[in-house]
Amino acid sequence: MSGIFAVASRGNCMEELFYGTDYHSHLGTEFGGLAIRGVRIHREIHRIAHGQFKNLFDGFAHKYAGEMGVGVISDFDPQPIVVESRFGAFALVTTGLITNGGELSRRLVAQGVTFSEILNGRLNQTELIANLIVQAEDIVRGIENVFDRIEGSISLLLMTEEGIYAACDHHSRFPLALGTKDGVVAAASETCAFPNLGIEVEKQLQAGEMVFFDSGGVRDLVGGRDAGKSICSFLWIYTGYPASSYEGVSAEQVRERCGQALARKDSVEADLVCGVPDSGTGHAIGYAMESGLPFRRPLVKYSAGYGRSYTPPSQEVRDQIAKMKLMPIEDICRGSRLIVCEDSIVRGTQLKNLTIQKLWDAGAEEVHIRVACPPLMFPCRYNLSTRSTEELAARRAIAALEDGAPEDISEYLDASSEKHGRMVEWIRKYLGCTSLTYLTLEEMMEAIGLPDFELCACCWAGYDESASARVVSGGHRVGRS
Ligand code: SF4
Repeated sequence: MSGIFAVASRGNCMEELFYGTDYHSHLGTEFGGLAIRGVRIHREIHRIAHGQFKNLFDGFAHKYAGEMGVGVISDFDPQPIVVESRFGAFALVTTGLITNGGELSRRLVAQGVTFSEILNGRLNQTELIANLIVQAEDIVRGIENVFDRIEGSISLLLMTEEGIYAACDHHSRFPLALGTKDGVVAAASETCAFPNLGIEVEKQLQAGEMVFFDSGGVRDLVGGRDAGKSICSFLWIYTGYPASSYEGVSAEQVRERCGQALARKDSVEADLVCGVPDSGTGHAIGYAMESGLPFRRPLVKYSAGYGRSYTPPSQEVRDQIAKMKLMPIEDICRGSRLIVCEDSIVRGTQLKNLTIQKLWDAGAEEVHIRVACPPLMFPCRYNLSTRSTEELAARRAIAALEDGAPEDISEYLDASSEKHGRMVEWIRKYLGCTSLTYLTLEEMMEAIGLPDFELCACCWAGYDESASARVVSGGHRVGRS
């Protein structure tokens, strides 16, 4: 996914823009971008796969000043898009994914609209959104036009000469928070961007809500709706930063509650609990709080000096870097029975080769993997962070057990079914750990603590849109892959 940030200030906003955007660096690995409005809009975009945001934009931050700006850390397209239009020049940043972009762009091209930001033969979806906006008679209707016509999910920030529009689509899968301090108004995907800038969270945009702000304050343009909200649950479990809150619910506290729930249903005897660094740490702390086991670190992450300059293009080299980053501490591992908390298992290859194997090699006596969510069954349709269906560890397990990919997988979604148990056992054997348990969907939702109908859980439960994340007892909801 991507992270977006915007700020309007009575004075120069560059410091807020620079750090506020940088605090979204965990959300993307492809492009970073800033646009600031002084007398005119200045924009710079860099590939962040080959360098850290702070280093790459240091020159830009010292060269330009202005009272409004937008920034993005993008896992997808180069952004911000800057266009000259009949509404004046504007800069646009977006997060999310449009799945009917091909069809929408073909229609626009047939009307004579041109696209200039083609990358590797692929359309830039932020440019598509800009082109959809300028079809309407004003910006508000233009943004509504986008939300009415897209399939997928988008949140956006749009900077004009007068101020900044912030909007979430009808599902608000990817939240936007508004924050203020004296003479400054800001919007961010991650609330963790605010405190060190002295900004306090004012509100979270609701589904379909649109506001306009400048340094003087916030004006409501389109009200939010209760129906249709479907916030990405994965933000709390893995993708969001621990210091962030969504809907006022802290990511770190949800992770602690996940760990507590894992501990409550556990009966194994162990010597210590740890997390797979860093994203399993909050879950492990919760497990330790509930179980009374000591939280210790048989594995630590060596981050110093790696940064993004070492983020390489191929999976093979990425695995090599991941391998070099995680260091076992043999004096803690040797002879110990370990509870190892992990946020989720996607493919499982890194967990198997880079974590579990290292713990065995360092002399662990038992390795019990505890996962803070159910088995991932479906790739995300709303961002590009998960892979194809076939790559998912749970789907490989099902294919192996069924000798092919069955059309109906509903029994495997039911955590109480015998098939689900066999699937988990297949994954355990593949990983090579002593035992493996997952949280159920109900347990995970309880840890988040919001009504389940307000949450997206499609990567665990499937794309029965009518049901969204409404959890049915036993996990049965959808069955088609
Ligand atoms: S499918 Fe999963 S990752 Fe995608 S928005 Fe829904 S909960 Fe988040």
